[in-house]
Amino acid sequence: MLKISFYPLVIILLMSGCAENAKLNGQTEITKWKDGKTGAVSITYDDGIRTQFSEMLPIMERLQLPATFFVITGPIKGSDDAGKFAGRPVKEIINETAHVPTNADNFFERASAIRYSGFKGMQAYYDKADEFYESGQKENAYKVIDTGYEKVRSGKLVPGKDTSMEIASEAGLSWDDLKLYASRGYEIASHTVTHAHLAIMDTANMLYELQKSRQDILDHLGEKYTFSAEVPFGIEDPRVMKTALPVYPSLRNLMPEPYMKEINRGDKAQPVTADKEYVQWQRGPLSKTPLAKMQSWIDTTLAHNNIWLVLVFHGIDTLGWEPLPHELVDTYFQYIKKNEPNLWVATFGDVGRYMRERMDTKVTSNLNADSIAVSLSRSLDKNIYYIPLTLKTYVPAAWGKVKVVQDGKITGATVQKDAKGTYVLYSVYPDIASVVLKKDKS
Ligand SMILES: [Zn+2]
Repeated sequence: MLKISFYPLVIILLMSGCAENAKLNGQTEITKWKDGKTGAVSITYDDGIRTQFSEMLPIMERLQLPATFFVITGPIKGSDDAGKFAGRPVKEIINETAHVPTNADNFFERASAIRYSGFKGMQAYYDKADEFYESGQKENAYKVIDTGYEKVRSGKLVPGKDTSMEIASEAGLSWDDLKLYASRGYEIASHTVTHAHLAIMDTANMLYELQKSRQDILDHLGEKYTFSAEVPFGIEDPRVMKTALPVYPSLRNLMPEPYMKEINRGDKAQPVTADKEYVQWQRGPLSKTPLAKMQSWIDTTLAHNNIWLVLVFHGIDTLGWEPLPHELVDTYFQYIKKNEPNLWVATFGDVGRYMRERMDTKVTSNLNADSIAVSLSRSLDKNIYYIPLTLKTYVPAAWGKVKVVQDGKITGATVQKDAKGTYVLYSVYPDIASVVLKKDKS
């Protein structure tokens, strides 16, 4: 938790004879959201769908809104690693299926291998097996896998490999495109190599999907973009999360922070009931979601102070799952933009970084006659957690103007008032050694 100490209290009491709340002066906190805003919104897009870039990017450029794109890395032109089976020869597995029925011991390996059997039509068996498995019907999942391999062994299938709907809607995306988008401030993040069903895969293949996707992003875009990921289909399977969390620091599927409540897309819980420091409230508009409903999520976020609204978009116009017309999303984004004075709109990665940095950083302050020295101490890796924090320090009203000096550089600050007293809001880089607020005598 945040620790605020201001031991020069005694000095203040001696110095201050007026009615001003002297105890307050020097008191410093890291504001819950950047720039002391009321809440945060992250716009996220899944699956790298072509129309997200062709239709939505110009709209976001016009409105100057950031966003996160979770892309499927395998099919991107120039990727080092496409989808494949990580394990023994698939032929061996196919042969085994002739005399050993699918069971708990071999299911994950067989489910991982089935799309790489060399024949078309296997994606449907893979999808169906996942559906059964994730709804608790394991025996049915095993049966589907058996039927699939029976078809493979029959030799009556067309040789080749299926293209999933997600991969088809991403076709044409290149690393050069993504590099350009990243340079404009968008976050590019992983959505695995092939949009795989990780819940029915063995550890080696789960790791392949996660690590190879990370490696391609690292090689083409750099480390900054290896922070966030979304395991496809929004799953929270404990076995998958345990494997994915060490690979990506920030999973949209699940953030295990004890100080944050997470309400996922399918969850009807209202964020108003949450009693945690932060609530991550994920909402994914579907084709039939009315604009008024989408706008009400913004209103709810603004009516509280602890909500991080994470919007999850898929299809746009004619492409992708549950598509929305781009004109509708444009109108919605204008509504977000209108509320930007009170809402921090930032990428999924940046809001997560800020939140973790704030909860990790300890602030102390020391009030003197004409200055306040503020110091920060933190344990997070500065290469990964580099978002400037917003500090709020109460200052004596008599100071008038205030200047902020960070490592010798003057940054200035606007003096504001709230119900408690006079304060300044200012931004501090995480690796700063010293911050001093000074009464500006100029
Ligand atoms: Zn997806």
